[in-house]
Amino acid sequence: MKFGGTSVGSALRIKEVAKLVTSRGKNIIVLSAMSGTTNTLVEICDYLYKKNIDGAKEIINQLELKYQQVIAELFDSEIAIEEASKEIKQIFAYIRSLAKDIFTLFEEREILAQGEMMSTKLMNIYLHEQGVNSALIPALDFMKTDKNSEPDTQYIRTHLLELLDKNPDAALYITQGYICRNAYGEVDNLQRGGSDYTASLIGAAVSADEIEIWTDIDGMHNNDPRYVEGTSPVAELHFEEAAELAYFGAKILHPTCVLPAKLNNIPVRLLNTMQPEAKGTLIYNCTPTHTIKAVAAKDNITAIKIKSGRMLLAYGFLRKVFEIFETYQTSIDMIATSEVGVSVTIDNTRNLHHIIDDLKKFGTVTVDHDMAIICVVGDLEWHNCGFETRVLDAMTNIPVRMISYGGSNYNISLLVRQSDKVNALNALQKSLFND
Ligand code: ADP
Ligand code: ASP
Ligand code: MG
Repeated sequence: MKFGGTSVGSALRIKEVAKLVTSRGKNIIVLSAMSGTTNTLVEICDYLYKKNIDGAKEIINQLELKYQQVIAELFDSEIAIEEASKEIKQIFAYIRSLAKDIFTLFEEREILAQGEMMSTKLMNIYLHEQGVNSALIPALDFMKTDKNSEPDTQYIRTHLLELLDKNPDAALYITQGYICRNAYGEVDNLQRGGSDYTASLIGAAVSADEIEIWTDIDGMHNNDPRYVEGTSPVAELHFEEAAELAYFGAKILHPTCVLPAKLNNIPVRLLNTMQPEAKGTLIYNCTPTHTIKAVAAKDNITAIKIKSGRMLLAYGFLRKVFEIFETYQTSIDMIATSEVGVSVTIDNTRNLHHIIDDLKKFGTVTVDHDMAIICVVGDLEWHNCGFETRVLDAMTNIPVRMISYGGSNYNISLLVRQSDKVNALNALQKSLFND
């Protein structure tokens, strides 16, 4: 069971989660940092990179004050208050000890790890105060990545099982999401939002019956609730559909989270902490057919078009184009081709200048910035008639730069200007779900 930042975002929420987890048996509980904490830690690091140590310390003090207030609201007994205060004080002393002139990636990652350290400590002490025999299993003792920053699944499994075995009498286990050790043994993390990934890696390591992602909304909605009104939860999704939606902007799920679950065929359930009885979304190996399930959007996309007379009847052109992206370690999201050219999209523009320079050897290159990919997911198997037209109908008044369909049975993607994204999402909502 993984609980996100909002789910543990206040003393009250921590109490609610404690109630919820104790009523559901001997599970492994993965916690994010309290909401806002990781952002604040990022801000602290930003000041330290800029060598403004006073600025960093001011924010550290404010954050510590917030945690002192949480402690005051969370615990009743003097013993618990004392224990929690001591733990939190130690963590802030450690953060301050890293706030120095020489500030590198190493110190940054140590600081970023402290949010999850604090939320799990507070939850564990609270559960003990409530008489629950919970065991805190440090993620840094089992969650490990290899030299390619990929999870070392063998290591994770062996070490996690060992730690669980050492605590046979525990009523439940608590651990930190997001944080890990890298191949060099340093503290590292699984990228922002990565607690979902932790949960899924743990689920796979222990061959769990189910991986539950508890958040602040009742499942994967059929459109982005931040931009569209009247969205509703999708009851069931196939692993592939969920992966597409997560990758293309459905923030409820971290894109990496689906793979370990899919490879081990473990269902993932998205549930709402504020409304535990709601059905949520079940992601598994099977799904209702003949429906469009959901729409998501991903910002900050750059489109590159390479036009060449020589592409006509030539073989090897696409290989040369793709090799350039490979050389600059830039992955491509969408592709559309015609007889005289090819358009691709990327979201990582770090090496854009080099890529364009090299592409110019093969054709005329045009670049469009600030684009958004709109991804429509569902049973889009090509024999089904009519779904593509409904998607395109919705775009009647919105300029579409690229269309990609047929890459999988699950999606059709459109590239529009980022400034048209909200209009496009709303038009699709109307055409696909509200008509
Ligand atoms: P947590 O902190 O629990 O990990 P997140 O903020 O990462 O939660 O994810 C939940 C949020 O994702 C929701 O509050 C919602 O605003 C956003 N979201 C974006 N797209 C979707 C979608 N298709 N369905 C549900 N939530 C979505
Ligand atoms: N606390 C981390 C973040 O805010 C990880 C997570 O919440 O999943 O990105
Ligand atoms: Mg999240």
